[in-house]
Amino acid sequence: MNVFSHPEFDNHEHLSFFCDPETGLKAIVAIHNTSRGPALGGCRMFPYATDEEALRDVLRLSRGMTYKSALANLDLGGGKSVIIGDPREHKTEALMEAMGKHLESLGGRYSAAEDSGTSVADLRVMGRHTRYVAGIANRTGFDGNPSNGDPSPATAYGTFIGLKAAVRHKLGHDDLTGLKVAIQGVGNVGFRLARHLREAGAELWVHDIHQDNLQRAVDELGARPASAEDILFLPVDVVAPCAMGAVLNDASIPKLKAGIIAGAANNLLDRPEHDAMLKQQDILYAPDFAINAGGIIDVFYERTDATPETVRKHVDTIGDTLTEIFNRSDRTGLPTGDIANELAEERFQKHTAGAGLAPMRLAGTG
Ligand code: NAD
Repeated sequence: MNVFSHPEFDNHEHLSFFCDPETGLKAIVAIHNTSRGPALGGCRMFPYATDEEALRDVLRLSRGMTYKSALANLDLGGGKSVIIGDPREHKTEALMEAMGKHLESLGGRYSAAEDSGTSVADLRVMGRHTRYVAGIANRTGFDGNPSNGDPSPATAYGTFIGLKAAVRHKLGHDDLTGLKVAIQGVGNVGFRLARHLREAGAELWVHDIHQDNLQRAVDELGARPASAEDILFLPVDVVAPCAMGAVLNDASIPKLKAGIIAGAANNLLDRPEHDAMLKQQDILYAPDFAINAGGIIDVFYERTDATPETVRKHVDTIGDTLTEIFNRSDRTGLPTGDIANELAEERFQKHTAGAGLAPMRLAGTG
């Protein structure tokens, strides 16, 4: 397994491979870049078939976090961790505690938040042994409602703000009354996005592989159910993918009828060049790591004494960032994803590292 010559290696600052035979923990932490501050990113638990697969994922994801945080103007660097194992079979408290001890040994250069395969509860178990876990504190959320640290409400709100910026740019109006939106995946983020849109007067179509989630959107929000085959290809104004990545690909893009793609799911483009394909079809694409940054913004403020208003205002800047991306894309003819990368690089190069994250206090962080 190569590291320095790995195709996904991008001058990452630090990699640590951690093994604890007693608990079965095998984990990799990757810190990509800390020029804006200490790294923050999710801890993913997944049954990777090979060590190579786990390494590839952590290298790629940690780099993505540097870009996401820089673009969101946060005093944070990019990092990510992966635990190799099936969360349904191999997850134990002892394993999570061992991960917590390893995180503590990194001295705060990286803090972990929840990701696929881990939950707020798991992060709290890690927090028995480390101050460097995030997204776990009970507090008043950005919207004034009680929060347990779950970033989904802020992600959904930020996606709503970003979607509005896309509508303003493409359709020239702020009023969402009668706007037709198709949402793929109405889970933690998608359902909340649907609620914001409904309250703003939009007409909704939804699909979810879980019937109860689909039914909740139909019953509570008056959304219309659509099939798995149709949801991305309906003749609507906006398609909002909020389930899984790689849904924008060679097969799907030619069939899209919406003029705007604005959804929260990570890694929406199957390959980077799909960005250009969308532009050629005159589809306005809100880059995923720009529009879904509400969660990381919210987690960043968890350890500060910022008011909910300050957090909300920062999430609101997602709209300004997207407008800048859309305008620059129009001016240069370059696709919006390329512009988002360019803007993120400008923001992390110009910035002098700030105070970053303060550590969590050990144990009983809830
Ligand atoms: P979630 O698991 O709560 O919701 C995902 C929903 O999509 C579920 O209801 C699931 O049943 C449904 N789904 C899965 N596969 C589907 C398919 N093929 N077709 C239709 N529905 C499908 O997850 P979430 O927290 O809402 O996150 C949604 C997306 O947003 C993910 O890609 C995630 O990485 C991304 N994201 C989430 C956050 C956050 O704060 N939660 C932050 C940034 C990015």
